[in-house]
Amino acid sequence: MTRRASFHTLGCKLNYTETATLREQFTDAGFDVVDFHEESDVVLINTCSVTNKADAEARKYIRQALRRSPHAYVVVVGCSAQLRAEELASIDGVDLVLGTREKFRVMDYLDSSLRKQGPRIVVGEVDDVAEFGPAAAADPGDRTRAFLKVQDGCDYSCSFCTIPLARGGSRSESIERTVEHARGILDQGFKEIVLSGVNVGDFGAGTEHSLYDLLLALLELDGDFRMRISSIEPNLLTDDIIRLTAESDRMCNHFHIPLQSGSDAVLRAMRRRYNTRRFRERIDALLTAIPDCGIGIDVIVGSPGETDARFEDAYRFLVDIPFEYLHVFTYSERPDTDALDLPDQVAPEDRTKRSRMLRTLSQKKRRAFYQSQLGRTLDVLLEKPGDDGTISGFTGNYVRVALPYQPGLENRLLPVRLDRIERGVVRGEWPTASL
Ligand code: SF4
Repeated sequence: MTRRASFHTLGCKLNYTETATLREQFTDAGFDVVDFHEESDVVLINTCSVTNKADAEARKYIRQALRRSPHAYVVVVGCSAQLRAEELASIDGVDLVLGTREKFRVMDYLDSSLRKQGPRIVVGEVDDVAEFGPAAAADPGDRTRAFLKVQDGCDYSCSFCTIPLARGGSRSESIERTVEHARGILDQGFKEIVLSGVNVGDFGAGTEHSLYDLLLALLELDGDFRMRISSIEPNLLTDDIIRLTAESDRMCNHFHIPLQSGSDAVLRAMRRRYNTRRFRERIDALLTAIPDCGIGIDVIVGSPGETDARFEDAYRFLVDIPFEYLHVFTYSERPDTDALDLPDQVAPEDRTKRSRMLRTLSQKKRRAFYQSQLGRTLDVLLEKPGDDGTISGFTGNYVRVALPYQPGLENRLLPVRLDRIERGVVRGEWPTASL
C-alpha cells in the first residue's frame, strides 16, 4: 500500500515555500500526499518561533496530528525545531526533529520502515550554515502564484528577533539558478512569482550581485507573468528597484515593508537600520514614482521601550502615511534575545490595547485605499472559485477583487473594473469586451 504523508506549516511565507519543497521530496519518494486533516503514515510539521504563540501552535498541531493518526511517524522541522529541539522531542509521539541545515535531507534521516522507536534529534549549529536549501513552490492544485525562495537567513541583529539564531546568516541562490527555477515555475503555468526570503532585499550580499540584478534577469524571461517581492527592508528599497518597478509592467505595484515602530527611540532599541525620517523618505520616493502603489507595513506593538508617549508618536506617524494595510504583531518575549534585558517592558494589557488600535487604523486605511482605486480597470490574477458563486484574485497593487464566477476564469490575468465595495470586499465588473 502506498504510504501517505501530510504536512502542516506555521509562520511565514518562506516556511510555506520550504514545506512545498519537502512535500515534493515525499512525492518523489513514492508517498501519497494527503490533507493534514486525513489519517497519514508520516506527519511533518514545519514550525515557526517568531512569537511564543507560534511555539504553542506547534505543540497543538503535533498533538492534533497524533490524535488523528496515533501511529504516524512525526517529523518536526523549522525555526522552533532548531531552537527548541529537546522541548519538541519531549512531546509524546514525536519521532524526528531536524534543524535548519538538516531539514532538506529529511529522506536521509527518516526511518525507512517508519518504526516509532523514540525521538531522534538531528540539529547542527546554524553559525556555519552556508548552503542554500532551494525552494520554489505553491500549494498543490493552485497554479496561480508561486513563492520562489531566493534568499535565506539574516545578518542583521534586531534585538527582538530569533530568526538569525534559527536560520543563520544571510545567503542567496545564484542568479542563474534562480532564473532556472523561475523558468520551471512559468513552465508549470504559474502567472505570478513572489520572491521570498528572510531578508529578500539582502539578496546577493557578499557577492557582486544585488536584488536589482536579479530582478533585471528575471524580467528577461518569456511568458505571461508578473512578479512581486514578498517583503523588503526600508533601507534596502533602493531607487533602482523603485524605478524598475515604475517602468516595468511585470513588476507589481506593491511593496510590503517592515517598519516595526514609528518611534525613533524604539527603533534604536530594536537595532533597526533606519529611522522614521528615512522610512518616510522611502515611502515618499515610492509614491512619487508609483502613485498607485499598495504599501503594506509590518508593525510590532508593545516592544520594550514603547512607553505611552512613544506609542502615541508612533501612531501619529502611521496615521500620516498613505499605506494600504498593516500587519500588526504583538511583541512577545523570546528566549535568548537582547530585548529581554531592555528597560520599560510593556504590560500585556497595553500591548493588547495598542494592537487593537493599529488593527482599526489598518482597516480604515485599507478601505480608503480601496475607495481610491474604484473606477479603475486593473489586471486581476483570478484564483479559485469560492463557495459563494464568485471568483477572486489580486490586482498588482494588492486589492482583492471578487467577480461572479464563470468557468474558465481560473488562473487568468484579466482586466477588471473595480466597481464598488460591499461588506469590505471590492466587487469587480468586466470592462466591455474583455472576455
Ligand atoms: S531584519 Fe531583523 S527582524 Fe528581520 S529577520 Fe533580520 S534580524 Fe530578524
